[in-house]
Order: sequence, then structure tokens, then C-alpha cells
Amino acid sequence: MDDSSGLKHKELEFTLAAVSQLSSSSLSSSSSSSSSVIARFSADSGVAELRFHRDSEFIDGFNVDIGTSQLFKLGPVQSLCVSESSGASKEKSYSRAVTIQFRNEDESRDFHSAFEQWQKDVIQAGIHLPNGAIAASKSKFDYKIEPSSAKMYFHYYGQLLHQQNMLQDYVRTGTYYAAVIENRVDFTGRVVVDVGAGSGILSLFAAQAGAKHVYAVEASEMAEYARKLIAGNPALAQRITVLKGKVEEVELAEKADILISEPMGTLLVNERMLESYIIARDRFLVPNGKMFPSIGRIHMAPFSDEYLFVEIANKALFWQQQNYYGVDLTPLYGSAFQGYFSQPVVDAFDPRLLVSPPLCHVIDFNEIKEEDLFEIDIPLKFIASVGTRVHGLACWFDVLFNGSAVQRWLTTAPGAPTTHWYQIRCVLSQPIYVMAGQEITGRLHMIAHNAQSYTMYLSLSAKMWGPGAVQGGILQTSSGKLDLKEPYYRMSQPQSYTMAQDQQPQQLLQAQAIPIHTEDLDEAELLRQPSENTGPQLQ
Ligand code: SAH
Repeated sequence: MDDSSGLKHKELEFTLAAVSQLSSSSLSSSSSSSSSVIARFSADSGVAELRFHRDSEFIDGFNVDIGTSQLFKLGPVQSLCVSESSGASKEKSYSRAVTIQFRNEDESRDFHSAFEQWQKDVIQAGIHLPNGAIAASKSKFDYKIEPSSAKMYFHYYGQLLHQQNMLQDYVRTGTYYAAVIENRVDFTGRVVVDVGAGSGILSLFAAQAGAKHVYAVEASEMAEYARKLIAGNPALAQRITVLKGKVEEVELAEKADILISEPMGTLLVNERMLESYIIARDRFLVPNGKMFPSIGRIHMAPFSDEYLFVEIANKALFWQQQNYYGVDLTPLYGSAFQGYFSQPVVDAFDPRLLVSPPLCHVIDFNEIKEEDLFEIDIPLKFIASVGTRVHGLACWFDVLFNGSAVQRWLTTAPGAPTTHWYQIRCVLSQPIYVMAGQEITGRLHMIAHNAQSYTMYLSLSAKMWGPGAVQGGILQTSSGKLDLKEPYYRMSQPQSYTMAQDQQPQQLLQAQAIPIHTEDLDEAELLRQPSENTGPQLQ
């Protein structure tokens, strides 16, 4: 990204024939003089604006916030740009319109496409807004997230059953409880903000640890239940205020000494709630305040799992039928095959399936900028511990509670007690062959999208070996594109958000229907349902 606002475009200038303002209050038109006018697209100070200059003098009052404006074509060389006024209070703000006269049609067209491009970038970057009035009507969250996605998301978290699912993840909730109570020194007498409070459980923990006051910010309808739960615990209730709204939008009476939050999705970053955690840090936290958790790490290693690979490849076999009620389904086989491999697989797997020691990508919540999470690019390099077929990349995460008294990690690693996040595996449609000691290289490139998740581009490569391979020459490379928003849940457990809601019942049936025979012991072990693990389990 080029600048702090995340906009990819450099400053851009257009010479205009004239510009005039249509004043909303007087309806009079204040036209520029005959000297040439320059329209300049700029992102100075993090706000994407269109500014007008005459004789290199800035024309005051004509500037337009690109993120909240609309451009209309009045004629081949004339356009109207309507924007919200930057009035101090919402009631007093009226629309403003600037009439733009171009020198010719080509320049008009170029100007319109530049305007569109800038507007797209503003929305993607979710850059800072010029003033409180406009920010209140459209926040950073609204700029970058598709309304239908946000609606489904907060509807999901508004239901008690999904909060219960998280509360019953005892590895998760127990680790938060221990981290808070062991580090009461960080909470006692302090102002705390609970970012995405859900049921309010972490606010209650913070109050138990002696917080002076806790602001529990929750955007979904769960805020009402949190109020009820907190009111029902009167010893703590007087030190907790529930604020219903997005952390990007609510205002707090005071700054916080410490933030507590559980913003982690599948693969840490799914749901894009880490960005809200970072925004809450910038809006509410005192300088050098504490964040619970303060660091997240994504761990990755290649894996080998023949059974999983065959299971995924076989799902598309349905489309191999040439006579399905007289219809040839094969034209869609390729698309179905690709579709299944584009789903990250979510389940708890045996760590013995890993082909090499993992590497990790660290995200420091104290330091990272919101925009740094728009694109995550991780170069991969592993040394295979065994000779095998590599079927893809396995990923999991952990977070650190860096308390003043005790440091504690919450881990979702394979082999550790299972959490509701499980682990994820990106399966490649073309496995690669490796020898023990051989280097595996690649890249995991994740790009955030406006449905609160990421498109993932994975590639893994290894040098060819054996007779026929040129020494050091030919690479076997396998690549895949996956959507983190569309995971394939491979077990019959209550799910965290991320499940494609319409897939759920079918997948549960499929998972339950897998027969495990005694003679399949090895496979049965690999397929072991999390409920059969020995560690603490979800219900
Ligand atoms: N803190 C609770 C809930 C965690 S789930 C617990 O640990 O049990 C995350 C919660 O954050 C959900 O309830 C969701 O509605 C809320 N949330 C997500 N993004 C938010 C945002 N931008 N502003 C406010 N709440 C948000």
C-alpha cells in the first residue's frame, strides 16, 4: 500500500474549464473566474478528497469527500458532484453540490473513471472519515463490509446458542478466566473495554479481577442478554456498562487502561474482527495500555493425509454421471471438483500427519495497523521430515495473554486439547512428492474481502527427484485458491461462526454417517471425532 490510508493511487490532477458551487442555503451559484481550475484527487491526512485549485490557490469550501459523494453526468462535458456537508451536527448538515465543466468529452470520461476508482479504493481501505457527523452515519466498518454479510454475522452472534457454544469451549473460556484472574494486578482499579462482549462473560471476569469499570461493547442483539446477565450478578453489575453498538461507532466517556477481547476466527483472521480490535485500540486505549490478548500467531506446516484427499476428490464424483435422469452431468464435473478443493477443511487432526516442523507468522496486536490485515502474505519454507505425498497446508493459531504476573498462551494446535476453532487444512488438488530432508517452498497469500473473510492463494513447490529429474531444475508446483468464508466442517460438533449456514445439516449427517470399522483402526484413529479425544471437550 502506498500511504497510511491504504489508497493505491498517487495524487491525480485534471484541468477543468470551470467549477461552480450550488449552495444549499441560498441556491445561488458561485462560479470560478475565467482562469483555469485544477481538480486534484488527494489522500493527504488519510482522507480521500477532491480539491479544487485556481491559480495554485486552494478554493476554500469546494472540497469533496470522495467516500461519501456521488458524481452525476449532466451532459457530455458537464457533471455534478453531490456530497454530504461537513456540518458539525447531523441535523444541521445539508448536501452540497459542485458543478464541474470539462474542456472536452475525453477529459470528462477520464475524470469519471478516476473518481470511480478512488471511490472503490476508499471503500476497500475504509479510510478515516473527515468528521464525526459523517462518521456517525457510515463508519469504517460500514465502508469495508457488505451490509448483508454484517447482518448475517450479527444475527448469528445475537443468538444465545452460539454464545453458549463459545462458553462451553472450556479450553477457550478457561484460559481467558485463568489469564484474567492470575493477572488481577493488571485489572484491579483499571478501566477496561471488552471489545465484542457477546454474553458479557469477559466483562464479568474483568470485574471479578477488580476492574474499576468495564465498558462492554457489543453490536448484536446479544447486548440485551448481556445486560440481563450482568444485572443478575449485582456484586459486579455496578462496575459494568453495556454499550450496544459497533466498536467503530460507539463513544466512551473515558479512555481504557486495558482491552479484553476474543476476536479470533478460524485461522485467527476469519471474520475480520481483529481489525475491530485494532480500531478499538486506536479509539479507546491509553498510550501503552495493555491488550488481552496482545499477540496472535498463525502456524503452518505441510501435511500428508491420503484419506482426506480421496474424500474431497470423491465428493465431485457425483458429477461424473452421464445419465442422471437422462442428463449428462459431466460438463460440471471440473467446476464441482474445483469447488470442493476451494473449501478449507476444519477438523481436529493428528499432528503425526504433519510432514515438517511448522513455521509461524506473528501478528502483534499492539503494533499492527488495521490496513496491515487487508492483505497477509506469508512466504513458506519447510524441510520435509519424511518422504511422502504432501496434500496441502495445515494451519492453526495461538494468542498470548502477556500479563504482568503470568504469561499464558491459548493454543489451537493439533494434539493440544481441542477447541471450537479446531484446525484448518488447505487441500491441494494436485499432491506433491517429497523426500526426507527435501525443501518445500511456497506462499500463502490472503486477501481480505467484504464478506468478513479472506480469499486464500496457496502454492507449494518441491524439486523433482528420482530418475529423469534434472538436478536442481524442475519444480513440482501445486496451487489452489480457497475461500476462508466457505469452510468444510468435517465433524459433528457445534460450530463457530464461519459455517456456511445452509450447509450445516447436510454436513452433520454426512459426518455422522461415516462408519468406523474395527479393521480400519489407523483410519479410524485419523478420523477420530473430537468428542473421543482425551482432552477437555465441547458438549
Ligand atoms: N467476548 C465474548 C464473545 C466473543 S464472540 C466471549 O468471549 O464469549 C465476538 C463477539 O463480538 C460477538 O458477539 C460479535 O457480535 C461481537 N462483535 C464483532 N464485531 C464487533 C464490532 N465491530 N463491534 C461490536 N461487537 C462486535
